[in-house]
Amino acid sequence: MIAEQVLLDEWEAGELAVEYDDQEPQEVIGWALDRFGPRIAICTALQIDGMAILDMAWRIDPRVRVFTVDTGRLPEQTHDLLARVRARYGIEVDVRQPERVQVEKLIAAQGPDLFYKKGVRQRLQCCEVRKVNPLLKALNGLDAWITGLRRDQWATRSNIRKIEIDHDHGGVTKVNPLADWTEDEVWEYVRAHDVPYNALYDQGYKSIGCAPCTRPVPDGADARQGRWWWEAAGAPKECGMHCAIETGGFEHEAEVLLHTVER
Ligand code: SF4
Repeated sequence: MIAEQVLLDEWEAGELAVEYDDQEPQEVIGWALDRFGPRIAICTALQIDGMAILDMAWRIDPRVRVFTVDTGRLPEQTHDLLARVRARYGIEVDVRQPERVQVEKLIAAQGPDLFYKKGVRQRLQCCEVRKVNPLLKALNGLDAWITGLRRDQWATRSNIRKIEIDHDHGGVTKVNPLADWTEDEVWEYVRAHDVPYNALYDQGYKSIGCAPCTRPVPDGADARQGRWWWEAAGAPKECGMHCAIETGGFEHEAEVLLHTVER
């Protein structure tokens, strides 16, 4: 039987965002799984936030759907973690990959490491081919997705709500149960529940994406400073999956990032 489509309108999403804003993540996840049934999935890059969400959701419903994007440039530690997740939770994680033809065209035109040499526009092109396009395909057929986003991760995320309409992705519902948690709270949960995590965290990494675009950061630094570290200071540390950089209300930051205006 095909599950009925569930789309929230602005008014309902606004009411729910207010109702759930001070609720624990498990309450938010429980509501979302109940409301959207098989038409919701967790999207995770297997960072600690996503791992905490996955663990919470699995405890509520072990059949929870999970997908991740394998960009083709992930560190081996992330692949190791994926194997541990499957073993620990018995979840068949749906691994989405970029279109081979698109990747080949990009590499043929710009080289494999275009992001270092060619500039920010090209970096965003790489993120689009390797991350954003596979995400769009994964969201096709879903009415809602659950993320591990937190408000304190970066300025571009400071206004996220726990339940919101995702206008960048066709009006599906985006659920951010950890919106008001801190990094310390996430680690507390991960340790208390023995949640598996990426071995790179023990090597000084605080935010983990593709291997060539991620590096460790000093103690006390913002976690996302280790992402695309060679780009302009203060530029949004986004790839376009969670915020359409040029249309998501961050036009000024995008211009700074693209060196078209002074900050
Ligand atoms: Fe490409 Fe780096 Fe973006 Fe990964 S993070 S998709 S390697 S530019």
